[in-house]
Amino acid sequence: MVFLCAPNNPTGNMLDREKLVHLLQATAGKALIVADEAYIEFCPERSQVDLIAQHENLVLTRTLSKAFALAAIRCGFTIAQAPVIAMLSKVIAPYPMPEPIAQIATQALSEKGLAVMLERVAILNNNRQLLQQALNELDCVTEVFPATGNFVLVRFKDSAKVFAAFANNGIIMRDFATKKRLENCIRITIGNQAEMEATLTTLKSL
Ligand SMILES: *Cc1c(COP(=O)(O)O)cnc(C)c1O
Repeated sequence: MVFLCAPNNPTGNMLDREKLVHLLQATAGKALIVADEAYIEFCPERSQVDLIAQHENLVLTRTLSKAFALAAIRCGFTIAQAPVIAMLSKVIAPYPMPEPIAQIATQALSEKGLAVMLERVAILNNNRQLLQQALNELDCVTEVFPATGNFVLVRFKDSAKVFAAFANNGIIMRDFATKKRLENCIRITIGNQAEMEATLTTLKSL
């Protein structure tokens, strides 16, 4: 079994569809390729779901933790061809999901639930685009990585200074500066408009 993390944490890199198809062909009958679609609601056009019909060894995993804002119910799902799901059903724990969780998940995936999710995604995607634009114009920024989820990786001239300034203003970021090839990089999660404005105010004060 091969797990493919997408978007990669923290770079935000997405799977290359052509390479994925090559991999599926090369491993057909030998290995399952599990591709993560945890953030796919933020960029549905990048989903690989249509490949499932032709590839029995492709498995997609999704979650209600991100775009559906339901991390606390610990619920996700698997999309694959029927034989894979049948195999999973044999090894799954007995009674794996509490009924209240199933009810919340069903509501989240109803027409009304999906509309609420799409509205949230539109707001967050807009906040991310505004942040990315603003970051590109700042002197303290050297690189804004491509982003498709609700986070963006940013390389600064001096990330220690930036991280400290955020902390002083009560904003906690994910510091990746000590990781190889991610020197001076910080991962920013997209929040509401006020949170993004506070983030930019802090950066502009440097
Ligand atoms: C959040 C996340 C998941 C799944 O999260 P759960 O809360 O365990 O469902 C999977 N992959 C990535 C990349 C994530 O960010």
